[in-house]
Amino acid sequence: MLPDTPYGQGVKVIKPPQALDIASCEGSLVRNPDDTTEWGIFYNPKASQERRRFTVAHELGHFVLHRSQKPRFNCDKESVYSGADTVKGIEREADDFASNLLMPGDLLRAWLSQQSVDLHLLSTIAQRFQVSFEALCIRFIKFTELRAILVYWDNGFLKYEWRSSSAIRTRARIRRNGDPAEPPSGTLAADADIAQERDGLDLSAAIWCPEEASHMRVREFKHSYTARDRVLTLLILESAEPRAWDRSWQDRESLNSYDQFGSR
Ligand SMILES: [Zn+2]
Repeated sequence: MLPDTPYGQGVKVIKPPQALDIASCEGSLVRNPDDTTEWGIFYNPKASQERRRFTVAHELGHFVLHRSQKPRFNCDKESVYSGADTVKGIEREADDFASNLLMPGDLLRAWLSQQSVDLHLLSTIAQRFQVSFEALCIRFIKFTELRAILVYWDNGFLKYEWRSSSAIRTRARIRRNGDPAEPPSGTLAADADIAQERDGLDLSAAIWCPEEASHMRVREFKHSYTARDRVLTLLILESAEPRAWDRSWQDRESLNSYDQFGSR
């Protein structure tokens, strides 16, 4: 790509990624102050192998998409969710770039089409792509045509929620019982005795999503992390027609968060 294509114009070298032990930082993209044709990528050596791969791909995303904006990018995982809007925007773009680079859609489509989706399949695919299970689940949500919702719980409280485009289109949204929300009672997520449910459990969709019709079903999957009190919930809802009334203004933010970049 260097230095003549639009991706690498004016740049001669990106140095091979190097470890840089800064506690506050997952990765960095840095322009050499003495030579503007040279850039370097740094990653946190304490992160897992999968996380490091994702970080390097994320920094490459800043290089391709954003390097004209500033000479240095210091990235942490949190700013994708909690940073100022301008920071959040470019961090999400770099994450989407990394997702698409490490988990190409044609392979993902082929592997997903072989069997019905459950956590066994998603974890096998994550291993094939050498990405974390969480990164694969987020990619799945952005990619799938199913009505699917991914929820990440930290110490029993909702940290983030991703909805697939058809979940957004049909106004599927999970019950909010506080701020931050806790898992609704009667769900696997709320059951402290069950750490893993990889095959999924069939439930009435209204337990999770109060606006769903009473005959609709949802399949709930659960993955608990051993290190800390963190839980991933995957919900796959029965398919539904888009709702007739227009309340799209309510969904502007979640559309922005990924569909805009994906559609470019
Ligand atoms: Zn970044």
